[in-house]
Amino acid sequence: MNLVLMGLPGAGKGTQAERIVEKYGIPHISTGDMFRAAMKEGTELGLKAKSFMDAGALVPDEVTIGIVRERLSKLDCQDGFLLDGFPRTVAQAEALEGILEALGKKIDYVINVEVDKDILMARLTGRRICKSCGATYHLVFNPPAAEGKCDRCGGELYQRADDNEETVQNRLDVNLKQTEPLLDFYRQKGYLKDINGQQEIGKVFEDIDQLLKGLNE
Ligand code: AMP
Repeated sequence: MNLVLMGLPGAGKGTQAERIVEKYGIPHISTGDMFRAAMKEGTELGLKAKSFMDAGALVPDEVTIGIVRERLSKLDCQDGFLLDGFPRTVAQAEALEGILEALGKKIDYVINVEVDKDILMARLTGRRICKSCGATYHLVFNPPAAEGKCDRCGGELYQRADDNEETVQNRLDVNLKQTEPLLDFYRQKGYLKDINGQQEIGKVFEDIDQLLKGLNE
């Protein structure tokens, strides 16, 4: 089960990713999470990524492709993986084809969670994340049971530095410009599956689940 999950920031990608990896037991490979972890640890990769991330810009392809190549060759990706936040550019998508070919694999589906632009701004500024386990919440759409506290582990919830309005606007602009050619690339390859992300969270997952069940048959 080799999957790519796509959707603009705020489309609910993170929430769906959590459900997919929990149900199907495949590793969740999020380049954003990998960069944030590297920054927290203060590694060379983290230092390279920081200035781009803080500005809401993309980290250069050669850096990003390198970490994905390394990650996909790990043993736990043998029976599948869920890529989240990668690829973001056609150059990355082309590189991914090469990486997978060298590993004797191919993408099964590119799942595209679709949400109108206008709804995304409102969604994004309400996003909160657990400091301890990384679970994501939304003040309006998916609030925790107790304010400011993670339902799962009791950790403290925070707002990501790049979820402020100005950076969000910039991230959406960057993403919108980059996403269209990428969707075309995958549509042409026949991998692309559009999922309506404007439904209730559980229903969005049902639609994805329906699609993935077909792979296991
Ligand atoms: P995300 O958590 O996916 O929204 O990613 C947060 C930030 O990490 C982005 O705004 C970029 O600066 C960087 N990033 C994550 N994935 C990629 C990628 N595939 N290519 C370039 N930069 C990325």
